[in-house]
Amino acid sequence: MSPGNSRTQETVAYRGRFAPSPTGPLHFGSLVAAVASYLQAKINDGEWLVRVEDIDPPREVPGATSAILASLDSHGFEYSTPLYQSTRLEFYDDLIEGLLDGGLAYRCVCTRRQIEAAARRGVSGFIYPGTCRPKMADTSQQGTSVRVYTSPDRTCFTDELQGRQCCELETEVGDFLVRRGDGLVAYQLAVVADDYAQGISEVVRGTDLLDATFMQTHLQHLLGYDSPKYLHFPVVTDENGTKLSKQSGAAEINDNSISANLYWALHSLRQHPQESLKTAPTRDIWNWAVENWDLNALRGLQTLPDGSMMMQ
Ligand code: GLU
Repeated sequence: MSPGNSRTQETVAYRGRFAPSPTGPLHFGSLVAAVASYLQAKINDGEWLVRVEDIDPPREVPGATSAILASLDSHGFEYSTPLYQSTRLEFYDDLIEGLLDGGLAYRCVCTRRQIEAAARRGVSGFIYPGTCRPKMADTSQQGTSVRVYTSPDRTCFTDELQGRQCCELETEVGDFLVRRGDGLVAYQLAVVADDYAQGISEVVRGTDLLDATFMQTHLQHLLGYDSPKYLHFPVVTDENGTKLSKQSGAAEINDNSISANLYWALHSLRQHPQESLKTAPTRDIWNWAVENWDLNALRGLQTLPDGSMMMQ
């Protein structure tokens, strides 16, 4: 599907997505994200898109994209041709230029060291203290990175599982990057651009990205975009409370135990698949999962401290 597809939220009732970064093969935590977003799309008679977020070449692992897609295929996920963010760089550049031209963003000349020296730590890393904020009218400032202005107003959204969430971006996060110091587009900008361009009606992902949603909501506001709905399910953590991720060394899922992987993914989403599904044909597990998907089991939970169970 092309990002500019004219089928928008008006004509497609539900469109969800899974947006892996190719920083390694699919691990259990991302399988859970894929399963949760897929089931939400299925029970809403919607579409489920796959978007490869390959905009950070230094972190990209060769072969990861094809490994992730092969795992999705072998686990029975159905989707049309994925969108690759690396094909969308000009579009992101235009959006950033638009934000600069509109006085909504500025080129930042501060070095990371200057920022860290002046900043407090907040929920999403260092709170940018506005040290290098130019006067609104001063467009002469040079520098590679680009930050958007934040304001003292509260930015809020209502999460379907976590309830009302609010943040004072200026004091809790600070002006944030839409282009990084190394010239690469920032995740926040690309994700907002594509959730909108692809007509995503609901974003389903783990609570590790709950805080990022404040920045994304702010960007949607600056760009004049409608916000999708958000549903952040509790992330699976290991015994020490650390989120299972490629960075934390979470094991790659084994494509030879597909039924068991799906069984444990559903189990960790607090669904109650019967034991026999662990070895059942993939189709039977998906049928059971669509039939029995119960979001209420996850309401209000931020983490699920049971990552080790998949090893059983
Ligand atoms: N690409 C991000 C990741 O792999 C997820 C982005 C999102 O779901 O918004 O962590």
